[in-house]
Parts: sequence; structure tokens; C-alpha cells
Amino acid sequence: MFENNDRTELSDLGEFGLINHLASFFENKNPSTVLGIGDDAAVIESGGTEYGLLTVDAMFEGIHFDLSFHPLKHLGYKAVATAVSDICAMNGTPSQILVSLGLSNRFSLEAVEELYAGIKLACEKYNVDLAGGDTTASPRGLSLTVTVYGHVAKDKLCKRSGASENDLLVVSGDLGAAYMGLQILEREKKVFMDHPGMQPDLAGHEYIVGRQLRPDARMDVVQTLSQLGIVPGSMIDISDGLASEIHHLGMHSGCGFDIYDEKLPIDPQAVTQALHFDLNPTVVALNGGEDYELLFTVAQEHYEKLKSHPDFTIIGHATANKGTYRLIGKSGASFDIKAQGWQHFKG
Ligand code: ADP
Ligand code: MG
Repeated sequence: MFENNDRTELSDLGEFGLINHLASFFENKNPSTVLGIGDDAAVIESGGTEYGLLTVDAMFEGIHFDLSFHPLKHLGYKAVATAVSDICAMNGTPSQILVSLGLSNRFSLEAVEELYAGIKLACEKYNVDLAGGDTTASPRGLSLTVTVYGHVAKDKLCKRSGASENDLLVVSGDLGAAYMGLQILEREKKVFMDHPGMQPDLAGHEYIVGRQLRPDARMDVVQTLSQLGIVPGSMIDISDGLASEIHHLGMHSGCGFDIYDEKLPIDPQAVTQALHFDLNPTVVALNGGEDYELLFTVAQEHYEKLKSHPDFTIIGHATANKGTYRLIGKSGASFDIKAQGWQHFKG
């Protein structure tokens, strides 16, 4: 690692290439590290009938959020929700968070209080305790890093690996709305910059804008699955986009996936806006990202329980074609799904 004197651009590796490269220099030495780098959260032996779960998510102004349209209260809520989402992806329950804050002198006490009002709301919603954190000065802008500790019964743990051929591929909620909400917010920002007197027009876009500004972690889905007596074979949360997450499930499980275009759950507001912006709604659902829905595989025997459940859509199935991810259109024509979700350092 350290002998390399050449300069390699991070954009040549991409986010996942970089993580894999760095991970290759480390090995876990503690027997309590049941699962390290590579899943939505690390899995830690806690000695009892449950595993501990540990995950962290960072958000930087200018990269992850734009304060000209993101209210601080919503931002605080979103930072906690998106970190908790990774605990949900392990089929777990969060219990404590740590919040690390980088603040420039642009921010007043009142601004930080707004941010923490959102963090508090999320703590109440997900029943987690703010157990600590760190506060530092930042040369420019705001950064917000949330670590979450949680737990899961050992026999209910869901990893990215564990999908088998013919398993059903299921997604909670709907896809693409957060991305379309962002398009609306960016358009209204541009209108405002060009005409400072004009008020943003968000009427009729409340759902998709809300999905962008104040997403929720699907803790309710973890509970519903438990009530239905279903333990998914594999699971991941959708942060970078359905296409990217399908690749992760396939890569970790050693299988492929066929998904059906007409099955993709897309909210009508998101469809309307996609068409308005001249975007293909399917592409938005595949690559938009920030949905924070859960994507999981289950054995076929659970079909009846899921097929008309309002929280779930069966969008396809796992195949033996390792590394092949296909979108099947209405006509039966198939297209390879490329992972074009959000990748830091790329492009
Ligand atoms: P997610 O989108 O679910 O938060 P990421 O794509 O951010 O997951 O990360 C994938 C895996 O790589 C996770 O297990 C994460 O803990 C690990 N990881 C990400 N960045 C680093 C890093 N800089 N050093 C070590 N592990 C990392
Ligand atoms: Mg995740």
C-alpha cells in the first residue's frame, strides 16, 4: 500500500473500488468481529442471543445537501434516518447514535438548535438515544456524521449474501421519488436565483419533495416482516439506486437477477415529473437513489403473504446467471442493468 509512488486518481477506482482496495490491507483480528467491511453494517458478537450492529454515514454540505433549499430541521432528521436505514437493512433495531458535527462560523446557535430539533424528532421516531458525538470547527460549510449501534436476533440477521436461485426479489414502498423531488428543488432554486422575488412553487410536489428532504428509515418494514414470519435470505437498503443495490446483492450472493419493468413501483407524482423533465421513469427508478427502501430476497413459499401486501412489490427473482442483471420489458425484450447509481469520485 505505502510503497506505491505513482499517482492514481481516485476517479479511476470509484467509491467501491477504493473501499475494496483499502479493505484488502486489513484483516479482522478480534473473534467478536463476525462481519466486517462490505455489508450495510458491521456485525459484532455480543455474547447473547443477539448480534450488535454498527454503521456510520457522513453528509457534507455541497455534496449531500444544499442548505439553500434543505431546512436544517429536515436535514438533522434525514442524517439520522439514512444512518438508521443501514441497521434496518440488516433486519435489525437501532438503539444508540453518536453525532459528529463540523461547523463553520456561518452557523449560529439557533441554526444548530434547528438541526438538533430534527435529530431529536428522529431519535423519538426510531426510539434511539443520542449517546454522544463530537463537535469541531469546519473551514467551510456543515458536515454531519451519524454512527448507529443496533442489534438483531442471531437467527434474524440479513446480510447482502444469502440470495438463492428462484428467490423472489422484493422492494418496499416506491422508487424514484426522492430523485424527482431533488430535480424540482433544483429547478425552483434556479428560478429563485434568476428572479429573487419569486417564491418557490412546490404545490402538488409535496410527496416527492418530502422524499428528498425528509426520508424515513423503514423500521416499520422490519417489524412487518417479523409479524409475517419472514426472514429475508438477503437484504440491502436502497441508497445509491435500485440498479446499484441489485449488483451488490448479486455480487455478495453469487447470483443474477431478472426484474420486470412493469412491476417497478413508481409513485404517480414521480412518473408525471419524470416525463415532464423528459426522463424515463424506469431509469429514474433504477438509478435515482436516496429512496431508503428495503430490497430483499425471500423463498418462493412466501409469495402469498407478499403478493398483495400494500408495503411490498415483487419486482423479479434471483437467477443462476451470476453477474447478469436484466430488466425485462413488457414485450419480453431484456436489457442489461448497469450500476449507474451515485458513485463518489466518478465523473
Ligand atoms: P452503505 O451505502 O450501505 O452505507 P457503503 O457503500 O457506504 O454502504 O459502504 C459499503 C461498505 O464499505 C460498508 O461495509 C462500509 O462500512 C464500508 N466502508 C465504506 N467506506 C469505508 C472506509 N473508508 N473504510 C473502511 N470501510 C469502509
Ligand atoms: Mg446501505
